[in-house]
Amino acid sequence: MLGGSQEGARQSYIFERGDKRVPKEKIGVTKTFLPPFAEYEAYLTQIWSRRYVTNQGPLLQEFEKKIKKYLGVEDFHFVSNGTTALQLALNALDITQGEVVTTPFSYVASTGAILWERCDPVFVDIDPVNFSIDANKIEAAITAKTKAIMAVHVFGVPCDVDKIAAIARKHKLKVIYDAAHAFGVQYKGKSLLDYGDVSVCSFHATKLFHTIEGGGLIARHKGVSDSIELKKRFGHNHDEHIMLGMNAKASEFQAAMGLCNLKYVNQNIKWRRQLSELYDRLLGDDFQKLPKMKDARYNYAYYPVVVKNEATLLRHMKALNNENVFPRRYFYPSLNTLPYLKSQQRAPISEDIARRIMCLPLYADLSPDIVTNICEVLHK
Ligand SMILES: *Cc1c(COP(=O)(O)O)cnc(C)c1O
Repeated sequence: MLGGSQEGARQSYIFERGDKRVPKEKIGVTKTFLPPFAEYEAYLTQIWSRRYVTNQGPLLQEFEKKIKKYLGVEDFHFVSNGTTALQLALNALDITQGEVVTTPFSYVASTGAILWERCDPVFVDIDPVNFSIDANKIEAAITAKTKAIMAVHVFGVPCDVDKIAAIARKHKLKVIYDAAHAFGVQYKGKSLLDYGDVSVCSFHATKLFHTIEGGGLIARHKGVSDSIELKKRFGHNHDEHIMLGMNAKASEFQAAMGLCNLKYVNQNIKWRRQLSELYDRLLGDDFQKLPKMKDARYNYAYYPVVVKNEATLLRHMKALNNENVFPRRYFYPSLNTLPYLKSQQRAPISEDIARRIMCLPLYADLSPDIVTNICEVLHK
């Protein structure tokens, strides 16, 4: 059950304009979920009485405990955001120079983190079906300077984790998964976050599950986990300075939002699933959609569609904008074309998909009538 401002929201979006149903408010690709205010306020009262607002406070500890249980992982470090978590992952794995093989089809933060850590991204083109790095092309990109593979579970669809693990073992490389889209996804009977040396989550307000701003790291090896724990808070214990660190701490306010939202995440995923199935049904086979993988339990974080060319995409977007609906080109542009890269690299499949893909509105309390309307516009 959703409470507070969310209650009854599914009914209230539509009004009639002539014979046309037009959404009353602007429909974006996502809408931040907020818990009933009183539930957040109860945590604020606790924070006020303790005057303990950050630095591994009791709410952060409670949140880390509960999220481990929810996700089914043994390790979890709650940090200030997902981008910092990616940087921290590279640093804690001692990847401070050299090449990192990665995907050009991602949010800019994954490539950005590699560059920020003074490493060189080497782009491997994507699989045109699951939109993630094409594991069959990784080995050709490995050189003597390669230190790691940073892959992204794009739209929550698992990468070819088994093949990537085999390549990493053979070439002695670290594997970092940007799992910003993969919250709650299960693969082959366990959490998708349980693959690779480190997996990174984002709990930004636009994500399926959020803590306002926030992120997380899950490390497979204890030594790496211990480094992350120290590095996220300046690398020292009291007066003993152990290793280089930074400040990636999350506050009690972020932990409180996480504790509130965790109670609603299953309901939200269920509603998103219903809406995704409605899109599937109404869009039919005219649009390329996410693949259905038999070993995966998906989280319905995004609803991307690929159309036949960029002109068609722009035409669809314009038609939807006229109905007050604003899908988003995501991801666009392909990251191998960023203007501040040292070298030009080719990734024709990623560039092609990036030009033809958009994400349609998908959030828990989106009205099914709006979805129906969107599909009608897309079929015209
Ligand atoms: C959102 C996102 C990030 C960045 O996370 P922040 O918490 O916003 O810093 C990184 N990678 C991907 C694929 C994302 O979607």
